Amino acid sequence: MAGLAAAVRLSATGIGITLHEAAPHAGGRCRSYLDTTLGTRIDNGNHLLVAGNKSAMAYLDAIGARGTLTGETEARYAFLDVLSGERWNFRPNAGRVPWWLLLPSRRIPGVRLMDYFQGARLMRASEGEHVTDLLLSGTTIYRRLWQPLATAALNTEPEHGSAQLLARVLAETFGAGGAACRPLVLREGLSESLVDPALAILAKRGVSVRFGRLLRAIDRSSHRIDILHFEDGDEAIGADQAVVLAVPPPMASRLLPEISVPDEFRAILNAHFLAAAPDASPPFVGLIGGTAEWVFRKREVLSVTVSAADRFMETPAAEMAPLLWRDVCAAYGMGDASMPRWQIVKERRATFAATPEQQRKRPPARLRWSNLVLAGDWIDTGLPATIEGAIRSGFVAAELLSTGDASN
Ligand SMILES: Cc1cc2nc3c(=O)[nH]c(=O)nc-3n(C[C@H](O)[C@H](O)[C@H](O)COP(=O)(O)OP(=O)(O)OC[C@H]3O[C@@H](n4cnc5c(N)ncnc54)[C@H](O)[C@@H]3O)c2cc1C
Repeated sequence: MAGLAAAVRLSATGIGITLHEAAPHAGGRCRSYLDTTLGTRIDNGNHLLVAGNKSAMAYLDAIGARGTLTGETEARYAFLDVLSGERWNFRPNAGRVPWWLLLPSRRIPGVRLMDYFQGARLMRASEGEHVTDLLLSGTTIYRRLWQPLATAALNTEPEHGSAQLLARVLAETFGAGGAACRPLVLREGLSESLVDPALAILAKRGVSVRFGRLLRAIDRSSHRIDILHFEDGDEAIGADQAVVLAVPPPMASRLLPEISVPDEFRAILNAHFLAAAPDASPPFVGLIGGTAEWVFRKREVLSVTVSAADRFMETPAAEMAPLLWRDVCAAYGMGDASMPRWQIVKERRATFAATPEQQRKRPPARLRWSNLVLAGDWIDTGLPATIEGAIRSGFVAAELLSTGDASN
């Protein structure tokens, strides 16, 4: 996403660009593919965008893909407490003044008005604080709001997650009013919304996209990048050329060992079941107290997400599937329907760990080399590892190279 966003922004200015991608396809950690076990296309993981993701929205507009998103007309998040069976909708009002809190019918069951004010503490979070340093765990609001929110936003357990990073996400969503929290659902899939339209625009602008090009080494002096060594040949960087390096942190560190990068990661587990939910069910359901945290209703599958899922990485898929299917049936009121064909995808290094310690290791976009800019969800965007952060970093990289300044 970071590399594509930079290329889309830069190519609009008429600058000549070549995009080198190691994989045979674009999209990185955010893409769709044909799963042969299920016989259908699936996304590598369930990704949730919200209307307040300004950079992502600008990117979708730039590639003409805003129309590939659907979603509710208002912010509405369906929840089920698996243990008690209670269901509710988390439904903030559209504007910045949160009057919805005054309506008991809109509050989370078991949560009092005053409980919500605890959230204000996050806005004063200092650099080293963890989410649970500021929000009391063991309360109903923690279990039914803060814990699922923090785990999903940070992909890190709240007791280790950075309170500042969570505060930044909240400021750009809830802080901007319920309209900014409106969830957006991809009509088809990640590639159809975020990758294929970008490749089409780049092709139209004459950008050369070269797949299967693994960058192996970078020749550099103290202030300039001189040569990129790919497996299949070298590219000298001319006096008027520059490089956006948009690879993940372990690769960036291999190529430029002198830079600081995050080096602790968190996994995400996704399970996909070839089944349909009953008509008129919500596009996704948040689960409290289940193994799964979110269940999404997709094109031809029901898909489950477990964030910060490192504890499940060694559990055999055949053991996970029935546990997660039970959650799917609960989420969509499907009783004890028999388990259909399934697929489990474990992304061990889905994101860097959004802890205060890792936050300190994130480098800025600009380093000592005048013709190099870093991009990626892991550089110091102020956000956790998200599509929004990745796209924003790509836009900033483009801005830095074309104007020398990054005001957006
Ligand atoms: C399962 C899962 C679920 C997620 N859910 C959400 C969500 O709900 N909401 C959200 O906002 N975000 C979510 N994310 C995070 C989001 O996907 C990432 O933040 C974003 O896609 C990162 O984009 P990027 O461009 O920074 O990095 P990447 O996608 O990792 O891109 C890096 C690219 O560099 C290429 N590359 C690597 N090494 C080389 C090399 N040596 N030479 C050439 N090319 C190279 C790779 O092939 C890749 O294409 C999720 C991630 C996962 C894995």
